[in-house]
Amino acid sequence: MDSRMQAAQISRAGGDWELVDRDIPEPGAGQVRVKVEACGICHSDVLVKEGLWPGLKFPRVPGHEIAGRIDAAGANVTSWTTGQRVGVGWHGGHDFVCERCRRGDFAMCVNRKVTGFDFDGGYAEYMIAPASALAAIPDEVPAEEAGPFMCAGVTVYNALRNAGARAGDVVAIHGIGGLGHLGVQYARRMGFKTVAINRGNDKQELAQKLGAHHYIDATATDVVAELQKLGGARVILATAPSAPAISPLVDGLAPSGLLLVPAAPTEPLSINVFSLISKRSAVSGWYSGTARDSQDTMEFSALSGVHPMIEKYSLARVAEAYEQMHSGRARFRVVLAFN
Ligand SMILES: [Zn+2]
Ligand SMILES: [Zn+2]
Repeated sequence: MDSRMQAAQISRAGGDWELVDRDIPEPGAGQVRVKVEACGICHSDVLVKEGLWPGLKFPRVPGHEIAGRIDAAGANVTSWTTGQRVGVGWHGGHDFVCERCRRGDFAMCVNRKVTGFDFDGGYAEYMIAPASALAAIPDEVPAEEAGPFMCAGVTVYNALRNAGARAGDVVAIHGIGGLGHLGVQYARRMGFKTVAINRGNDKQELAQKLGAHHYIDATATDVVAELQKLGGARVILATAPSAPAISPLVDGLAPSGLLLVPAAPTEPLSINVFSLISKRSAVSGWYSGTARDSQDTMEFSALSGVHPMIEKYSLARVAEAYEQMHSGRARFRVVLAFN
């Protein structure tokens, strides 16, 4: 085997993409080496590129939407085999011993690691991952679709399945983009009365094709009034990270409704608390999930026919791929595909 590999790294906060030749890393105890087949580019990779993540060390290879195959395993890896197809996502492992882990809440581990932030990620031909961060990829899911499921997919799937809505309830997806186009598909297939909310009508046909029963054009109609005509939303998943757009949505909730925010706007929300109190409703953040949650996401997607819409680029075109994602022009996830 060749001992060198190609990787795309950032070597200082705000630096440009650098294509470098590196030694192929060796897995330590409890780790595996993954031969990367695809890696999605996530909006949060901007936190690495611009050095906005606390404690970040450079140079760093970003990428936390990884799909590939186990190429080598270190000592003490007992439940994974060489050649097995695996994904590695945002959740880059946990310590098993802190108070949260002792209660089984691994996503909230005080020493949790983030892939591509705390250790090098998937913008490279090979990467090292802790076995606790691995999700098995179902045979039906190709690598370039598995990648986006490991962050965008698990975030919305796990948010929706834990939000308390029951079959037939009104669930609104605000923003039809990288997260939202998956959110509409999941909401429909989970049995919810699915409402897509977006600015303008250029995504109306697509939203309906993805499964939306109703479409609300936020520029042409009063979103709150339209949601209340449907009885109010049991859950609104706000995927467009705009505080002025998200804040008023609380008035569109049904009693005991939940406004879920899985992607952070840069500005604070301004919430009408009277509206929350009078309807006993709530606003909550959502943290993506563990590796098993990602595997659940892929298994449900294979079962029910959920697919991310992707644009593929080679690693050599990483700067262009990142710019395409960052500009908002991508429909809807950008994936680095290897080979
Ligand atoms: Zn992400
Ligand atoms: Zn822990």
